[in-house]
Amino acid sequence: MIKPLRIAIVGAGPAGLAAALYLKRSEHQVTVFERFAEASPVGSGLILQPTGLSVLENLGLFEAIAQLGSRIDRLYGADAQSGRTVLDVRYAAIKGGRYGIAVHRAALFHVLFQAAQAEGIRVETGLDVDTLDTRGDQAWLVGNGQAKAGPFDLVVDASGSRSKLKMLALQPSEPKPLVYGAFWASLQADQAALSSQALVQRYHRATTMIGVLPIGKAGPGSADMSAFFWSTKPDQVEALKRAGINSWKDHVAGLWPDCESYLQQINDFDDMTLARYGHHTLAMPVGRSLAIIGDAAHSTSPQLGQGANMALLDARALMHALNTSTDLASALPRYAASRRLHVRTFQALSGAFTPFYQSDSRVLPFLRDRVMATLSKIPPAPQILAAMVAGTLVDPFGPIGLKERHWGVCLPEEADHLQQSGFPPARE
Ligand SMILES: Cc1cc2nc3c(=O)[nH]c(=O)nc-3n(C[C@H](O)[C@H](O)[C@H](O)COP(=O)(O)OP(=O)(O)OC[C@H]3O[C@@H](n4cnc5c(N)ncnc54)[C@H](O)[C@@H]3O)c2cc1C
Repeated sequence: MIKPLRIAIVGAGPAGLAAALYLKRSEHQVTVFERFAEASPVGSGLILQPTGLSVLENLGLFEAIAQLGSRIDRLYGADAQSGRTVLDVRYAAIKGGRYGIAVHRAALFHVLFQAAQAEGIRVETGLDVDTLDTRGDQAWLVGNGQAKAGPFDLVVDASGSRSKLKMLALQPSEPKPLVYGAFWASLQADQAALSSQALVQRYHRATTMIGVLPIGKAGPGSADMSAFFWSTKPDQVEALKRAGINSWKDHVAGLWPDCESYLQQINDFDDMTLARYGHHTLAMPVGRSLAIIGDAAHSTSPQLGQGANMALLDARALMHALNTSTDLASALPRYAASRRLHVRTFQALSGAFTPFYQSDSRVLPFLRDRVMATLSKIPPAPQILAAMVAGTLVDPFGPIGLKERHWGVCLPEEADHLQQSGFPPARE
């Protein structure tokens, strides 16, 4: 095992905080640096898949997150005009009792942040790290123009998709902007979402995707929320704003009348956050005294909902590589190798699937609705789709020395619940 290292972690997102916990528990001296004056989460909600949940269980945080989040058994999508089912993926298609848990970002952040605080991990805020000053085996963080922190034996770049440090990777690359992004908002959940245990979506061609995801509570004692999203091209936002919020709301209600309770909570475009997506995968997510994890190493559209889960897996992989190596020079390539197949597979799948749901193509949504929707019901397609959503299509656990969480048995009543909960909708 490697000797205790002085480690700087740049970024207090899911990747950075999970890495901080793992590395502190492995006896390293860890400091987290965050650009915001106060570390806090950005964005709405996300689905923690069996992969990410296994990491949280390994960190002893599964119960805390399960108490706040909302269990997800199914991803269901229909064509907005015909009501025809386009996508219907159930975790239960594969034995093992797996499920996802959708969470408010604030819930995931606070569970990880409180655990880091409880372990006495130092978090320094207000340092926007621009680059590294590396001399010999030591590195200093350089940010805010001049400020420096260090020296460190290892810097972990967990600063997300717009990371500046990723340019110091052995083979750097920048994310390619995707044409479509989305408006997101966390809104008070309605009864249909609360009982659905599902991510439910409506599509119009591949130009429009509306979704509702029950995400549980932002914190103990707060109200149950849903993430509501609407896909759009960022360069069309100005035109949308000029037409006015009511025109947009009428359009959405026309496509999906059931989301009226969410539209009532939106009074202005400022009530939503516009997310822009980019796609990149670093060929080697390591550099001199540098390990790159999470979105800084690989970002994509959230179509497959794997980003935060891959970030958590990366954190575990880095700890595993350090614990099973005698020096940093062998640990860093070992970290990269342990994640390569899983990351590349899911990045490729996300790159391939996204245009079927978010693009200007007429052909791809036609194939999706007419061919893929039918084929997806024929075994082994339901099983493959379930493994894709769960993040387990290729084994993410073995190479990083992690055992998947034991999910327990899926009770017949749970399967019945899905049928009784109103999905698929009556008009299908
Ligand atoms: C709308 C949307 C929906 C999504 N849905 C899902 C989903 O359902 N499931 C899923 O798994 N993933 C989802 N994702 C992806 C997921 O959010 C990311 O993959 C995940 O947050 C990556 O975690 P991270 O810690 O690597 O980066 P981030 O969460 O981006 O955290 C990076 C941190 O670094 C800090 N930072 C940035 N630059 C600097 C700097 N220069 N110096 C210091 N600090 C810095 C930031 O302030 C931030 O705190 C979604 C993403 C979006 C945008």
